[in-house]
Amino acid sequence: RLHTLPVEQSGIGDEEPMPLVAEMMRWAMLMQRAPEELTSRAGELGGLLAAGVPAERTPTLVHGDYHYGNMLFRGPEVVAVLDWEIAQIGQPLMDLGCLAIMSHRSQFKDAESPGGTVALPDEDLFALYGAGCVEMNWYVAMSLYKYAAILGYNLMLHQRGKRPDPFYETLTTTITGMIDEGIEILSPHPPPLQDEVKSQKLWATHLPPELGGQGYGQVKLGLMHEIEGATMWAPIVFGNQAPDSGNSEVLAHFGTQAQKDQWLYPLLDGRLRSAFSMTEPNTAGSDPTLLSSTAVLDGDEWVINGHKWFTSNGMVADFLIAMVVTEPDAGPYERASMIIVPSAAPGLKRVRNIPTMAGAHERFGYGHAEVLYEDVRVPAANLVGKRGQGFLIAQARLGPGRIHHCMRWLGMARRAFDMMCERALQREAFGKKLASHETVQNWIADSAAEMSAARLMTLHAAWVIDTKGAAAARKEISLIKFFGAKVLHDVIDRSIQVHGSLGYSADMPLEEMYRTARGARFYDGPDEVHRVSVARQVLTGYKAPQGMWPSEHVPTRRAAAQRKFAALLEAATTDV
Ligand SMILES: Cc1cc2nc3c(=O)[nH]c(=O)nc-3n(C[C@H](O)[C@H](O)[C@H](O)COP(=O)(O)OP(=O)(O)OC[C@H]3O[C@@H](n4cnc5c(N)ncnc54)[C@H](O)[C@@H]3O)c2cc1C
Repeated sequence: RLHTLPVEQSGIGDEEPMPLVAEMMRWAMLMQRAPEELTSRAGELGGLLAAGVPAERTPTLVHGDYHYGNMLFRGPEVVAVLDWEIAQIGQPLMDLGCLAIMSHRSQFKDAESPGGTVALPDEDLFALYGAGCVEMNWYVAMSLYKYAAILGYNLMLHQRGKRPDPFYETLTTTITGMIDEGIEILSPHPPPLQDEVKSQKLWATHLPPELGGQGYGQVKLGLMHEIEGATMWAPIVFGNQAPDSGNSEVLAHFGTQAQKDQWLYPLLDGRLRSAFSMTEPNTAGSDPTLLSSTAVLDGDEWVINGHKWFTSNGMVADFLIAMVVTEPDAGPYERASMIIVPSAAPGLKRVRNIPTMAGAHERFGYGHAEVLYEDVRVPAANLVGKRGQGFLIAQARLGPGRIHHCMRWLGMARRAFDMMCERALQREAFGKKLASHETVQNWIADSAAEMSAARLMTLHAAWVIDTKGAAAARKEISLIKFFGAKVLHDVIDRSIQVHGSLGYSADMPLEEMYRTARGARFYDGPDEVHRVSVARQVLTGYKAPQGMWPSEHVPTRRAAAQRKFAALLEAATTDV
């Protein structure tokens, strides 16, 4: 009945309806004010929510705090609803989400409402609104997020002495529980799926067997990544998502046994998450010899100071691998080292996720973080490898990782390509299908050729790594890094063009793919740096010809040939 009331008679009918994204931002802002130990976990839930905002329904009056505690019952009948403090015009399922928390939250499960036990199971309640459980998952998780934000804000006030009440002492656990429950509801990768992957020996296959992987080699792995590339969650399900996969390779190859026990094995099990913290806002990431963040050994501790950004997953990671200058007087490629920094280390400030063109979801949880290191102290034993080996380790880390990126891009490009072909066969203009127009045919043919080339180049690079090692494949890896990123971009771009305004709209996944693909031209080194690297390596196989003419200069070659065969020419012409 509440949601069928005429909006204009509600008394707040002249207010603008609150879209779901604005609703989310409202509670995210409040959550930002919660104590720091809660915000990063909450950020993960925020990220999942932002990534899956459902389609909106006709706005209605929304109570906003709709649970049994706010209802007056006469017998089983609700006779009044109290506390309209945050009422608004918005999405009716928000209220249903609040109500459903009662049956979702384990601690509320057996709770009795003032009017009796909660009568309806979720599905029946949702069915009254024609809402499916999957759609409602979002609203339930959103309600958990909302109440966690309200409680988190109150906890902050309590900690600052503004709301003294012993009740708040236990809130941290309650709030964390609510956030975890929200994450669990929205997580598209339930543990059973990961268990299935493990049972089929497909988990964390990027590592050799002696390091806990399956020893598949890069070619096989590349082929796996191509399939995984079609969906953004697959790498998590298969335990080889960036940056964890690269970090696990670093620890596996260069970590001490103690580091492996503490960080690597839990990382491989999916019990920990990690980040790689190299790029800085104040120095050019393309040229890491310029790194300015430092670590100084003080007794048996490293003291780290610096400013990093674009540390992917930095807000949710349990530990970061920071690349910092430890040997300021050494040569440019021996100055930096890698050091493990636990996320709880005092002085580590995870400032924010940087808003990017990939979309709002990157502002929460899984995003690219700005991180401040202010006199961060970690044990000396957290150094990975030897002092000054940062560059060497970074190269080992990035090589195979780039193969995986490229193959995932091919999976994504293939999806965009499939959409392009489908649409070309479906849509008609100027008396024939788009597929019959020559320009569209050219796009399809060019895309097929470029994807095929990128695929074979990537598999070739993988084969060189498998047979000769990552160091021998430097040129091949750089080739595919910039070529693969361009193919991905161009195929998505053409697919958008074939779809016309539909391709530009968010009703197709193409616009999001396009925005995400743009980053591929930066991370793991921008295109230009890889081109320079390829050109340099290619040029080592050549030397400048002597003199002023190129070695293929025809008059010069003719003159040389005449000199070389002068005797023969002489003999031949004498006979004549
Ligand atoms: C989505 C995403 C995720 C990322 N994740 C991480 C992460 O987890 N950890 C991390 O440490 N970093 C990460 N990065 C940062 C990334 O590694 C850097 O963006 C990259 O190394 C380039 O550094 P920069 O952004 O400082 O650009 P700059 O070094 O300032 O370069 C700017 C531009 O200068 C030009 N340029 C540079 N060198 C040359 C040259 N030799 N010749 C011609 N032109 C040149 C290029 O056009 C380049 O794009 C990520 C970036 C993105 C976009």
